[in-house]
Amino acid sequence: MANDLRFQVVGEAFKKKPLGVQTPAERPCEYFGKHVFNREKMYKYLPKDIYEKMIDVIDNGAQLDRKVADAVAAGIMQWAKENGVTHYTHWFQPLTEGTAEKHDSFIEHDGKGGMIEEFSGKLLVQQEPDASSFPSGGIRSTFEARGYSAWDPTSPVFIIDDTLIIPTVFISYSGEALDYKAPLLRALKAVNVAATEVCHYFDPSVKKVTSNLGWEQEYFLVDEGLYAARPDLLLTGRTLMGHDSAKNQQMDDHYFGAIPERVAAFMRELEITALELGIPVKTRHNEVAPNQFELAPIFEDTNLAVDHNMLLMSVMKRVARKHGFRALLHEKPFAGINGSGKHNNWSLSTDNGVLLHAPGKTPEQNLRFATFIVETLMGVYKHNGLLKASIMSATNAHRLGANEAPPAIISSFLGRQVSELLDHIEKADKEDILAMAGKQGMKMDIPEIPELLIDNTDRNRTSPFAFTGNRFEFRAVGSEANCASAMIALNTAVAEALVSFKQRVDARVAEIANDPIFATVPDGSSSGHNPVFHAIIDILREDIKTCKPIRFDGNGYSDEWKEEAARRGLDVETSCPVIFERYLDADSIAMFESMGVMTKKELEARNEVKWETYTKKIQIEARVLGDLSMNHIIPVATRYQSQLLSNVEDMRAVFPAEKADALSARNLKLIEEIATRTATIETKVEELVAARKVANKIEDEHAKAIAYHDTIAPMFDVIRRQIDKLELIVDDALWPLPKYRELLFIR
Ligand code: ADP
Ligand code: MG
Repeated sequence: MANDLRFQVVGEAFKKKPLGVQTPAERPCEYFGKHVFNREKMYKYLPKDIYEKMIDVIDNGAQLDRKVADAVAAGIMQWAKENGVTHYTHWFQPLTEGTAEKHDSFIEHDGKGGMIEEFSGKLLVQQEPDASSFPSGGIRSTFEARGYSAWDPTSPVFIIDDTLIIPTVFISYSGEALDYKAPLLRALKAVNVAATEVCHYFDPSVKKVTSNLGWEQEYFLVDEGLYAARPDLLLTGRTLMGHDSAKNQQMDDHYFGAIPERVAAFMRELEITALELGIPVKTRHNEVAPNQFELAPIFEDTNLAVDHNMLLMSVMKRVARKHGFRALLHEKPFAGINGSGKHNNWSLSTDNGVLLHAPGKTPEQNLRFATFIVETLMGVYKHNGLLKASIMSATNAHRLGANEAPPAIISSFLGRQVSELLDHIEKADKEDILAMAGKQGMKMDIPEIPELLIDNTDRNRTSPFAFTGNRFEFRAVGSEANCASAMIALNTAVAEALVSFKQRVDARVAEIANDPIFATVPDGSSSGHNPVFHAIIDILREDIKTCKPIRFDGNGYSDEWKEEAARRGLDVETSCPVIFERYLDADSIAMFESMGVMTKKELEARNEVKWETYTKKIQIEARVLGDLSMNHIIPVATRYQSQLLSNVEDMRAVFPAEKADALSARNLKLIEEIATRTATIETKVEELVAARKVANKIEDEHAKAIAYHDTIAPMFDVIRRQIDKLELIVDDALWPLPKYRELLFIR
């Protein structure tokens, strides 16, 4: 595209919107949750007894009966009408990306020739979307024709434009989950039950353990006009070609730099919209790559946090367009610079306010802390391959393993102090740990860890699962992903580890209970020894040894680590479709089934969807790359080549042949280079098409995905290299696609 046209496009997009948005006169705490039917609205719009029932449903998982549902629907309807709402939709998270919705209006015939508006408990609670076209991995066709969506009352309804949005799970009539939310809710329940029981060793009053999630969403912004001129971005979410910009991130001048004015205006509007929708957004900054940014909220209960992330991603795309931008959520929109992730900060906390992954003040609290750290590591160790599968996708595969993002091996960084604590528990003399202190009761020799000391200096940016003071940060999650996938695997793995821990501790307590050491001393007071703590320490010592291979504090990007990890028995597979197989390992199926999260049938069906999605993504990229090569790149390169040729001829017309050729030496070289490069592109595109035809004949989704991974994806780079070289030599005025240097620097 000629330069002047390019600037014109930018200019127009820029003019379309005013600089900056009108900041409302209200403060964030006034408009927070404005469009959400939250507790405050429930209190206002529901009768008192119904309000209390709803709180019981939300906080304690009580059953929601029909009468309550009707009363809640009536309250919601009143609020919705006051806000100009005319439609409602069940909103769910199918196994594709993003969310799904189908809007219906409230109107019904009144039987007298007119219309009334109606919204009943029945419509609130359950619907049957025509879901036959959502991927189900064959569950619906094999077992039951239809699926239905059912309200998740723990995630409040909200309003967007004229529509009431009702968060729902999406399941088949025979009960199989067809979405992300259903298994997530089951995983959260499993970890709640398992962790609550373990908490009882330390505090019998704990009633509930909540899984927390604070995601950090990275994204790129590009100018909308330039985006429209890049069919690859438009159709695949990433650039399939494009030479490095001479300047990109090498100056480290973008990270935490001043936010460009146009971007700041976008961020302000996005944040206000998010806060109005009840998403507690808090942090914004520039990221490492040019045009890359990050937004993070305050952490919330994992189910709500997942919904909020899905909502935020869709709101972000809309607000970006209002500001003449496109928000790119793809994990790797540009080669050669950082990709985007979505760090999932995860922890467990009790209903009485204890963060179970935060060090405490007393030795007892620190024993509890060590328990939750070690059992988390046990889950992550045992299922490291599965956890990798949970964050793997055709798009995230570009980011993992590259020298910028977590490696394609799951390991955990703990930092010096926590490592020392675990080493101490493992190695110190047990009698020293449980030092007898007579009538003062038992004193444990467990080193203290002041929370403040675990600070930024003790961080390892290369670790995919790092302890960061009072939580773990699962960094391998992709920017575009539904966090639920990672959260289902992680919470279930930790639930399973905690269940096994409790079984073994209880068995150990029974074994040692009769040891005279636990008998009361002659004066009737306690010996100070607690058999439960003895047992916990025994089991922890066992587990610290077992899960040691998952602990790694070194450089996760190094080649030595790949070898070392393989020696340790960690999963080092890098092929995306092969990694998906981990969902069907005997250990994974046993874990999901025993924790009541997913059945083998559900897992098999979901894997079909994963393989199919993988294939389709690569297939689309292959087509786009082929088309662009043949109808954008080769014609333009050839046109430039013709210009060079006529210049050579013109020279011959003016100068004697020998002199003319000497003067045209550079052009002659370019003519030849263009000829070889375009010929290579053409041959490779033909090979690509042929390879696709072969792969498309494969019926089995698993085998087909592997074929796409092994034979088709590797050809992209070969073609791209030729195109990127042509980009460097062809006249810029002729080049049809906006270049990296234009896409990556916001004007
Ligand atoms: P960074 O990792 O860049 O330092 P922050 O400290 O701002 O980021 O935190 C990132 C995210 O982690 C935020 O969403 C924050 O609310 C969340 N977070 C903080 N503490 C916890 C916790 N105990 N459990 C889960 N998430 C947490
Ligand atoms: Mg972080």
